[in-house]
Amino acid sequence: MRERIYGLLGRTLKHSYSVPIHRALGNEGYALFEIEPDQLCAFLAREDIGGLNVTIPYKRDVMAFCDVLDETAREIGSVNTIVRRADGLLAGYNTDAYGLRYMAAHAGISLAGKKVVILGSGGASLTAQSVAKAASAKEIVVVSRGGTDNYDNLNRHADAQVLVNTTPIGMYPHTGELPADPALFPACEGVLELIYNPRRTALAFRAAERGIPSSEGLSMLTAQAKAAEELFFGRAIPDGENERILHLMRQSTQNIVLIGMPGSGKTTVGTALARLTGRAAIDLDEKIMQADGRTIPEIFAQSGEAAFRTLEREAAQTWGKESGLILVTGGGVVKDERNYHSLKQNGRIYQIERALSLLPREGRPLSQAADLNAMLRERAPLYAHFRDASISNKTTPEDTAKQIWQEFCGNAD
Ligand code: NAP
Repeated sequence: MRERIYGLLGRTLKHSYSVPIHRALGNEGYALFEIEPDQLCAFLAREDIGGLNVTIPYKRDVMAFCDVLDETAREIGSVNTIVRRADGLLAGYNTDAYGLRYMAAHAGISLAGKKVVILGSGGASLTAQSVAKAASAKEIVVVSRGGTDNYDNLNRHADAQVLVNTTPIGMYPHTGELPADPALFPACEGVLELIYNPRRTALAFRAAERGIPSSEGLSMLTAQAKAAEELFFGRAIPDGENERILHLMRQSTQNIVLIGMPGSGKTTVGTALARLTGRAAIDLDEKIMQADGRTIPEIFAQSGEAAFRTLEREAAQTWGKESGLILVTGGGVVKDERNYHSLKQNGRIYQIERALSLLPREGRPLSQAADLNAMLRERAPLYAHFRDASISNKTTPEDTAKQIWQEFCGNAD
């Protein structure tokens, strides 16, 4: 018997997190299978299939190829896990329901007795409807662009208590977009966000601003993977593994963002951190200069600070939505609140601190002219607002990099 294959079946899988998740669960051979619709039949006829996860657009299509369907998959009408049983039959399951329940519990959001408004009517919406029903939700409303309940009459459901986003609005690369404003639902006490990239969507930020807890789609993704591995190999994996894998994934996908006064050592620390971690360091000022063709002092002198801040905001938007990078920012990035969302959506933010007397001034447009003391007075509260932690850069860049990495490995949650 040939070795069995395990992996994710879908059409476009470039941004999938499944390989690192399943490998962390011990499935070393887990692979990606990008299959075109006209190849699906031949692919599913392979006798060496051991176990598959299934994603867009095949969760419904694969049902016809399963010899047996478990009750949840049949009820929801979609299969996200296929297992080759010992008797050779292909069995279809849906572990998204377990993942969604785990995510809600992890965020402390209960659906029992609540009015639940689900945005979107696709595959994940069917899972959310089934989970809400099983949890004895008081009322379940599905909002669909073409439905009776749609985005033009959300006010009909202003009494919603739990909002569930099953649309792709706000998902990478279109981060920052909002499917619906939680402000429209004054009774809302929890938001279940299924999107896992970015880590914090515009919806999650908006909910947090109103003091409403929201879930993290990554916890659903890792939990459904654990349940799939249990089915693949018929073994029980302790629930504690969910937390371990979630922590690993948060850590590997999060950016490390460096902020701080001009000359505080962000670039040299970023370079040392890149050497230490093997991550790529992206210097936003460098990216701005490359794209614009002028140096930063030239942009300030010829176009003014406002023009530079626009370029800086665009660079923060472009790079902040990426994952697993080190992002080195300019000293004034904190002056625009919009940059907070761009940098925080996938990042943990470190302020690099250095004594004012040690800050160099040459070649820095604002440090040259202005009084650094006044600049620090203005920016200190902004740095405090942006940062998750501050690190003192008083010895070597290597030592500062080590301190950041230690902090990150312990606290990347
Ligand atoms: P899907 O079957 O394509 O359904 C998405 C639904 O969203 C559509 O049916 C549509 O509903 C709505 N929608 C699509 N484009 C929209 C737009 N431009 N504006 C407003 N609504 C739009 O996809 P899915 O499999 O349900 O996945 C949906 C989302 O959930 C994705 O972001 C996916 O990554 C996420 N997800 C996460 C997990 C996890 O483990 N965290 C698991 C499954 C899915 P209407 O036509 O009715 O408006």
